[in-house]
Amino acid sequence: MRAIVAGGGLAGLTAACSLVDRGWSVTVLEERARLGGATFSFTREGLVIDNGQHVLLRCYTEYLGWLRRLGVEHEIEMQPRFRIPVQRPGGNRYVLERTPGLPAPLHLGPALARYGLLGLTDRLRVLRGVDELRKLELDNPALDEQRFGTWLRRAGQNDRTIEALWNLITVAALNTEADNAALSLCAMVFRTALLENADSADIGIPRVPLQRLHGEAAEKYLRDRGASVRTDTPARRITPDADGFTVELDGERLEADRVVLAVPARKAAELAPKGSLRTPSGYPEELGTSPILNLHVVYDREVLDEQMLAFVDSPVQWVFDRTAISGLTESSDDARKPSGAQYLAVSLSAAEELIDEPTANLRKTFLPELSRVLPAAAAANVESFFVTRERHATFRQGPGTAVMRANPASKVPGLVLAGAWTGTGWPDTMEGAVRSGLDAARLIGRPRLQEGT
Ligand SMILES: Cc1cc2nc3c(=O)[nH]c(=O)nc-3n(C[C@H](O)[C@H](O)[C@H](O)COP(=O)(O)OP(=O)(O)OC[C@H]3O[C@@H](n4cnc5c(N)ncnc54)[C@H](O)[C@@H]3O)c2cc1C
Repeated sequence: MRAIVAGGGLAGLTAACSLVDRGWSVTVLEERARLGGATFSFTREGLVIDNGQHVLLRCYTEYLGWLRRLGVEHEIEMQPRFRIPVQRPGGNRYVLERTPGLPAPLHLGPALARYGLLGLTDRLRVLRGVDELRKLELDNPALDEQRFGTWLRRAGQNDRTIEALWNLITVAALNTEADNAALSLCAMVFRTALLENADSADIGIPRVPLQRLHGEAAEKYLRDRGASVRTDTPARRITPDADGFTVELDGERLEADRVVLAVPARKAAELAPKGSLRTPSGYPEELGTSPILNLHVVYDREVLDEQMLAFVDSPVQWVFDRTAISGLTESSDDARKPSGAQYLAVSLSAAEELIDEPTANLRKTFLPELSRVLPAAAAANVESFFVTRERHATFRQGPGTAVMRANPASKVPGLVLAGAWTGTGWPDTMEGAVRSGLDAARLIGRPRLQEGT
């Protein structure tokens, strides 16, 4: 059987890998020059730069399984246990971490008790919020109609607990603030990652650039198994016919028995045959998109003594040390050399207000702020400062979006959708993308009659 996978992001690549493993003849079509979709790298000033810092959690079981299949799982540095250092400007550093040997959710109790960014009363408030979260029925569709922030306040939370704790996770995981996020997705994230299993939220950070981890590894996997991988090749039109599908490219037509459409939501609306998607009309606009901005700063010396550090009470959200991964030092052993230069990525999620700011303005705002939050930066020289902007980083994971996410089975037998924006039940994440790719490959193998039902 011949399958065309349109879209070489994680969803499309996962589907393609699963299909070649089952003996399908697979062609991957990718519009851009490289595979990996929203996860890619490029070279600038001799450094390998990721378009945006990505992290994963131990509960990303399908994503980790895919990396294992590609033979690159060892390129993830997984925390032995969940640990997030958090600081406010000029203040002490507190560590949100799990205590080994304690079952969830007690594993977070000691860290919460020591979390000095909240006063005692607010820490007790958080316990009440956790208790309420644990009572929610996650499959209740009404949860998708509510804002997490509104619900949190009803569950006893106040501006401070939201700012210093709930938003720390919500903004990073959902790319939106609690006040704009759907309760359903937030409840799923907090429950799955933090409240149900003690090790689920252990954080993984790639040791190699995203391009190597995803795009290059998947391309090798696919080519080694006989798949055709075509970059710079956008699909222009998909037409079902009696024998399968014709996929039009620029100046060429391909025939296939089945098609996996693994492109972003708005592209799927353009490419899918008219009336074929099981989505409400206007779904791409309703889903919307939410931007992520990364500031890349190279200092002439070490200014950050952690691999990652989160901030509250500052526009700086999360800072990552990317010195070794970018090739700034020759080996990771050198990365913390006190006299060596250090390259930091400042990840700014839910960045609607910043996404169009000129680089000069961002520099003017954020370099002094970095000096405020990382005192060693005040004495350091900035060797390089640039910005990567992902305007459509994720869909806007707000209330009412669950019904807008596509059912992977289209109305046309043999045409299946994949993508982190489809109805995976997961937020728009690498895990969601991989899960959707696996589902698409499973679905496409079904007899055509069943599939369209
Ligand atoms: C800056 C940033 C930071 C992020 N951080 C995290 C994180 O820390 N953890 C996490 O889990 N997730 C994170 N995400 C989200 C994660 O990257 C995405 O959820 C995931 O990569 C989406 O994969 P996808 O395959 O569904 O979609 P995409 O990656 O968007 O892939 C779709 C592909 O289709 C291609 N395409 C479009 N039109 C056509 C066409 N006509 N023909 C052929 N190809 C076409 C596109 O070029 C693209 O390659 C982040 C995203 C960004 C942008």
